Amino acid sequence: FAMLLPTSFSIIAHIDHGKSTLADRLLELTGTIPMEGESGVNRQVLDSLKVERERGITVKSQAVSMIYADRRSQGREYLLNLIDTPGHVDFAYEVSRSLSACQMALLVVDATQGIQSQTLSVFRIAVARGLRIIPIINKIDLPNANTDAVLAQLESRLGLDCMPGGQDEAILVSAKTGMGVEAVLQRIVDVGFDTSAAAASSPPSAALAPRTKTTAKRGEGEKLRALVFDSWYDSYRGVIALVSVHDGVLKTGDKLAFSHSKKKYEVLDAGVNSPTGISTGLLCQGQVGWVVCNMKSLTEASIGDTLHHANTHVEPLAGFKPSVPMVYCAAFPVESSDFPKLEAAIQRLALNDRSVTYARESSNALGQGIKLGLLGALHLEIFRARLEDEYEQTILVTAPSVAYRLVHQDGSSRIISNPLDFPDHVASRIGTKGGGKNVVEVQEPMVLGTLTCPEEHVGAMMQLCADRRGTEVDVSFDEEGGAATTSMVGGDLDGQQQQQQQQQRIVTMKYRLPLGEIVTDFFGLVKSKTAGFATFEYEDLVEGQGRAEGIDAEEDGWERSDVVKLTFLISGTPIDALCQVVHRSKAVYVARQWAQKIKDVVPRQQYDVVVQACVGGKVVAAEKKGAYRKDVLQGIYGGHYDRKAKLLGKQKEGKKRLRSMSFGRVQIPQESFMEILDSK
Ligand code: GDP
Ligand code: MG
Repeated sequence: FAMLLPTSFSIIAHIDHGKSTLADRLLELTGTIPMEGESGVNRQVLDSLKVERERGITVKSQAVSMIYADRRSQGREYLLNLIDTPGHVDFAYEVSRSLSACQMALLVVDATQGIQSQTLSVFRIAVARGLRIIPIINKIDLPNANTDAVLAQLESRLGLDCMPGGQDEAILVSAKTGMGVEAVLQRIVDVGFDTSAAAASSPPSAALAPRTKTTAKRGEGEKLRALVFDSWYDSYRGVIALVSVHDGVLKTGDKLAFSHSKKKYEVLDAGVNSPTGISTGLLCQGQVGWVVCNMKSLTEASIGDTLHHANTHVEPLAGFKPSVPMVYCAAFPVESSDFPKLEAAIQRLALNDRSVTYARESSNALGQGIKLGLLGALHLEIFRARLEDEYEQTILVTAPSVAYRLVHQDGSSRIISNPLDFPDHVASRIGTKGGGKNVVEVQEPMVLGTLTCPEEHVGAMMQLCADRRGTEVDVSFDEEGGAATTSMVGGDLDGQQQQQQQQQRIVTMKYRLPLGEIVTDFFGLVKSKTAGFATFEYEDLVEGQGRAEGIDAEEDGWERSDVVKLTFLISGTPIDALCQVVHRSKAVYVARQWAQKIKDVVPRQQYDVVVQACVGGKVVAAEKKGAYRKDVLQGIYGGHYDRKAKLLGKQKEGKKRLRSMSFGRVQIPQESFMEILDSK
């Protein structure tokens, strides 16, 4: 590996356009993984996490090195590093950090679907990173492939010179059958090793130092600069850092230091993935590979930091902004004695997903639990699925909530992530009691959402966005709509329906939406109201908590909002796990819905039990569970028997009875609260 000229590329695409399949074919063609007997087998080597395979979503970025022997030059060999990028917007942070280690991006577009929302967003990130784009039109084997229309889209919407003979000439492939894939490898070589072409087309950028301009010694004698762009924890070898060597050479035994953290380490081993770890003992300029140092915890492998030799001084490479959790929820075990197990499972998962934050939290309704902070709604969903996998049991998760910014009378502000910390009152007048620390304004985080759907669903989608307090920013109709259907359920349609879909124009709507309105059921509604034909993605407008102070709300994505704290009480005692922050216009509706739900699951007592919902100390909804009457049979709980049995059935057998929690003089079994959370 050390002898070969290296170049790095990534594959970017809208979900399901064939990124993983193309990666598999490239790895096969270069002999990195054995050829599968039958072509078209979906191996998805890169998607090694179970949840990623199940959902077909790449979450973590990874790197694989392959050696390509170019037939055009008598089998001259090149080292190609494939850096995989996650496909969903919740993971945009991971996308940008893995792209930093690349020189070019293969932009894969499905020939039957054309440009989709994520095609645009990953394209923008790649261009911003100064990467050379290689357009690839995939799935040309499908009968409804419309290559010409997709080419026209790439030209008109992305401004790519992609026609035959053009500077960014598109490559037509079928990743499934392997057709055209060799041409992809040849193009990577042409772009990666023709320094004149690369220099002409890409703007100068620190992150894009011309690593292809290699000297004979390939970095020997130069000062080492290696960018850490990913890391994970291996139970045998400890912390493994994935690095891209920009300059110089790194060897086993070298003493290294980080530019920012200043910490010093010794290299214990280094190597490349091809496809799994191969120890080479050194990494040269242009190579992408792994390094094992004597790091004790993952937090030491600070992503975005630059490694250099301990006795040298270098200019650090351009790093990254850390991710900030935007969505919060709390996870509880069904059986309280399982808490240590749940905590251990979360710790294990968080080791390899450092965008997750967690802390202990205890609740008067659900006992001991863990508060989680995640990047977005999909991230939450994936983390939960992984957690249930890892923990092998059902977990209870409270309704997701977002962070709010409270502005005090004295002009200072703070961000809260727990609805319980939300003030009961927001002072409307200056000078009310409480002084400077009075909260005078509440702000909520906003996102810029992009919804793409066929024309017939526009009305329903606009209604949905309006219901969620969205404001329209832009609506555009795709004039080359002929190529594309947003089919996510293509398999369920017969030919005629597909034809109809193809004749519809595609509409792209941009809305400014409160994040809090899209974290619960928004994605699901977008899909169900359009039979799966719409896609939704969003960009956070809030840039990170570090920026929060002293910037006006218009500019930083925080927007003044009339949101209120909604508290539920049983016989006068608040139920903390059900506390939530909602917009005032929806408070009464939500209050009634939940009060009813609570009343339904609370077991009947010998006296009346009152369920109340309060906003700012005022009761906005109330329900009463009447006391037993003598003539009433005992099976009152019967209606819920099935649900309860289902919930308990998921647990291991032979466990002791669940705990009861006290609310005033009322004893409520913990499982009643579980039913509430489970009944969404
Ligand atoms: P990703 O989400 O971009 O990684 O997409 P995948 O590689 O998982 O592919 C999504 C689906 O499209 C899978 O069912 C693939 O088998 C299928 N697919 C990928 N490439 C082709 C192709 O060239 N032709 C056909 N017919 N199907 C393909
Ligand atoms: Mg994939």
